Amino acid sequence: MKTIQWFVDNNVDTFSSHPQLEEVAKLLQENEVVAFPTETVYGLGANAKSDAAVAKIYEAKGRPSDNPLIVHIAETGQLEELVEDLSETAKKLIDHFWPGPLTIILKRKPNVLSEKVTAGLETVAIRMPDHPVALEIIRKAQLPIAAPSANSSGKPSPTAATHVLEDLNGRIAGVVDGGGTGVGLESTVVDCTQEKPMILRPGGVTKEELEKVVGEVFIDPALENDKISRPKSPGMKYTHYAPNAPVYLVEGTTAFIQELIANKREKGLRVGVIATEETENVYQADVVSICGQRSDLKTVAHTLYDTLREFNNKDVDIIFSEVFPQEGIGLAIMNRLEKAAGHRWIHQH
Ligand code: AMP
Ligand code: MG
Repeated sequence: MKTIQWFVDNNVDTFSSHPQLEEVAKLLQENEVVAFPTETVYGLGANAKSDAAVAKIYEAKGRPSDNPLIVHIAETGQLEELVEDLSETAKKLIDHFWPGPLTIILKRKPNVLSEKVTAGLETVAIRMPDHPVALEIIRKAQLPIAAPSANSSGKPSPTAATHVLEDLNGRIAGVVDGGGTGVGLESTVVDCTQEKPMILRPGGVTKEELEKVVGEVFIDPALENDKISRPKSPGMKYTHYAPNAPVYLVEGTTAFIQELIANKREKGLRVGVIATEETENVYQADVVSICGQRSDLKTVAHTLYDTLREFNNKDVDIIFSEVFPQEGIGLAIMNRLEKAAGHRWIHQH
């Protein structure tokens, strides 16, 4: 399959003058899969009502079929067809955070969406992306669009169209290139089907921001257990977002990290390090990757996947990474870094 590439300018508000997006919408209506930019990462979209279309997403990504997809909409009016009545909490979250990087789990209406989207669950994950290109494509397609990140399963999510092509060229109908994404990490997933709202995945909207709107928000205990079990976890089980070389998260001073680097280099290994602007000149390693500014964690979120992905174009045997406080967007950053590292930690004592 030849993958078409369209270029759009995401700085203009209306895309009615972009005939390319008509073509994109038409392909979606014909049950093809197309990648497009959102404010979080690039999504791989398909008609969420069609089994055939959704099957193509799983096939192109090599995604396990028991991992349900997020359905993207462009207007709240689309909800009525898809889900049962909204709780007060869900309404508040929608009012406050849509369009934006917040996915809400709601009770689905039967027989509307492909069963493959929801992986057989009674619930569905829905979000409205805050990106003019994504919104315009969904509006023109007049469909709910299932869209996971547009990467091969296990690789870092794509924050540029070139990343999408690295993984999926020849496997999808096309990619809309709208430049770099904003947040750089996926949406926060919040379950609103129970009495208490619960974060199932940390992401672009922080727990603190959610709590300002709906009061106390809980974190899925499974996320915490994931952390507790980290030292014992066999690395292979968690290779999401992982570069080819093993990543180690280091809790310690920059001097301690430099010692680790020097030690490996003495043994003849090529060493990479994930640093920040603040520590740019501190390390002597074979590859020093600057992942944003520690004093502004949003910049770290924005750059993280590109940093992880870039290591595959560099020749390194091992990667050490600085770690970040698990507050605000730091919670999502550390969640992704832990997966990239297969929960391998080194602590300075
Ligand atoms: P991705 O498409 O890679 O951004 O991942 C979507 C995330 O949302 C995954 O962590 C899914 O497990 C989660 N998800 C999607 N639908 C549901 C649902 N109905 N209930 C719980 N989690 C969901
Ligand atoms: Mg993904």
